[in-house]
Amino acid sequence: MATDFVKNNEKYAKDQHKPNLPIPPSKKLLIVTCMDARIDTFASLGLEQGECHVVRNAGGCAQDAIRNIVISQRLLGTREIAVFHHTGCGMLTFTTDQLKDILRKDADDAAKAEVDKIGSFLEFKDLEESVKEDVKFLKNHPLVLKETKVSGWIFRVEDGKVVQVA
Ligand SMILES: [Zn+2]
Repeated sequence: MATDFVKNNEKYAKDQHKPNLPIPPSKKLLIVTCMDARIDTFASLGLEQGECHVVRNAGGCAQDAIRNIVISQRLLGTREIAVFHHTGCGMLTFTTDQLKDILRKDADDAAKAEVDKIGSFLEFKDLEESVKEDVKFLKNHPLVLKETKVSGWIFRVEDGKVVQVA
């Protein structure tokens, strides 16, 4: 719980934190991945503090990460993007219309107006296809630098392995 943060932070601050790292990621790498609580991006890919940016959102959707990617590339020098989606993702389990129905159930007028503004929750039906689409989206996006190396991956929650698919 959030109330344990201060207590739990003591050891980290004393033994693990690296206060003098430069702001730009040393590997010039940005990872887009899902917010899923079962994924430990740094440990699973052998990455350390200071080496990369990690943008997390529901699904690891590239479209949702554009604001972060622009800042990362133009102001902090990253030149490679790796997109990760994963098996057992919640984004495979619903449709935008279903979630909108849930939101509208107990919504007041202000909430209903917000629901109407949402185009899509960016859910997907096919895991591998969704990674390929995100890679294509980034390669063709006018604000993503042309020289960017973009790759697409699946993280398998069952066994912790990663598989490149794009
Ligand atoms: Zn997920």
